[in-house]
Amino acid sequence: MRRKSHKLQVLETLSTRKKLDPEQQALLQKLQRGIIGERNMDLLVESILGAEVDCLDDIILEYQGNVVQIDKLLIIGSIIYLIDMKFYRGHYIFKNGEWYLGEKILANNNFEQLRRAVRIIQNVLYDHQIPLKVQGVLAFMNPESSLTVEDSLKETVLNFADIPTWLLQLKQNTSNKQLQDWKSAIRNYEIAPYRTKKIFPLEKMDTLQKGICCPNCHQFNMNENRHTVSCPCGYTEAKVIAFIRTICEYGVIFHNQNLTRSQLRIFFGQDLNERYLEYLLEKYFERLDSPNSRSGYKNEGIIFDYWFAEKKDYFERLAERKNWKNANISK
Ligand SMILES: [Zn+2]
Repeated sequence: MRRKSHKLQVLETLSTRKKLDPEQQALLQKLQRGIIGERNMDLLVESILGAEVDCLDDIILEYQGNVVQIDKLLIIGSIIYLIDMKFYRGHYIFKNGEWYLGEKILANNNFEQLRRAVRIIQNVLYDHQIPLKVQGVLAFMNPESSLTVEDSLKETVLNFADIPTWLLQLKQNTSNKQLQDWKSAIRNYEIAPYRTKKIFPLEKMDTLQKGICCPNCHQFNMNENRHTVSCPCGYTEAKVIAFIRTICEYGVIFHNQNLTRSQLRIFFGQDLNERYLEYLLEKYFERLDSPNSRSGYKNEGIIFDYWFAEKKDYFERLAERKNWKNANISK
């Protein structure tokens, strides 16, 4: 599944613990619309072309000093479709080589960005002697927005309602031909996802809601039981997961800081089971090897699902604890 950007992880986590300012709130909503749109596209592709369809999603490449972010690459026959998704609002017209919104000309020609990405992928394939053609596709993911093209264009433009028909047409060109390893050729140039440079200062910890946040109702009234925590809304979670998830939330918000017991104690709030927190830090987190014993534990700065993605099966088994007999009796 396509991952949330680091910026989105930080804003979402922060929004559960404090009221965002209007600018942050607007950005959060924009990023949320973006990931929903991208996941919708992934679902459409999978449901129409089948689960075995060959894609590369959400990658950042660096090729000869050029960095490019690509939303989706999809191979059908001998063509790689490079799909750039847009979440604009409004009805746009492309004419005379310019983008118009009403009478206004947009400062950026969005096709330039797409063409640059197409050139880079085409060159990567050429370098690796892979004879595939790259076709740029600009997809409008907001059903209420559109782009009308009144110009000749080598790119494909899709308004939201056009996407299923376009995919159905592609489906007729699928072949079972053995494909060269185009993905690993491209992956050679992959670089790590962007991390937000926006920092939330430790000094502002007192503006945050403390404790364990219920993932279901987002309140902070979780009760600690023997093996679980439970919320008045009815949500119950294995205690080990609720604690580790909360440590990760601290890590996301303060992604430029190490994990330290002293700060985590504050973050968990007054009712904290301190011994349990210390036990979990030792067991699941990486103590920083430093002469300063106060330096703490390594902070990946990402949400629990991504931080512990490789231990997914293990945590799914632990999650079963909420069904244990006596798991919910109070401590
Ligand atoms: Zn709840």
